[in-house]
Amino acid sequence: MLADIKGLSKHFTEDSLRAYLAERSTRGDGGCLIIRGYGSRSGVHQKVAGRAWAHIAAYVVFVGGYDPDLDVAQSCGVKDCIEPTHLRQATRTETSRARRQRPVCRQGHPRELDDATGRYRRGCRVCNRDAQRRWRERQAEEVARARTGLRPSGT
Ligand SMILES: [Zn+2]
Ligand SMILES: [Zn+2]
Repeated sequence: MLADIKGLSKHFTEDSLRAYLAERSTRGDGGCLIIRGYGSRSGVHQKVAGRAWAHIAAYVVFVGGYDPDLDVAQSCGVKDCIEPTHLRQATRTETSRARRQRPVCRQGHPRELDDATGRYRRGCRVCNRDAQRRWRERQAEEVARARTGLRPSGT
């Protein structure tokens, strides 16, 4: 419901708000839909259509089922993105859990910060490297076994 969007200018209908948001946004990296608000800063939440938050307005008219008691978050981590498939409502506990990200991975390696989002990267490079090394070792073993053992006939 449009009434759930705090600060939204009263003359908007759902249709005109959809058109307005589409007009002010451009497709960015990773499929993000970047909205241009009143401010000159990018990468932060944007105000549009009166004094409404763009990502909340977009959630209401493009996703639907907005719960005013919950935050709207971007799964891509881009705060001025209004791509409907990147918008989700998190529960309060989820939001605070995300803020308290652990500084090490499950194996205890220090995690790297992502410059774009200011948050820790999801993947751990050390763990990835270990996994790749194990995979290569397994491959090498199989090749060695194939060389010494019986080759499949007909090849
Ligand atoms: Zn996005
Ligand atoms: Zn790790």
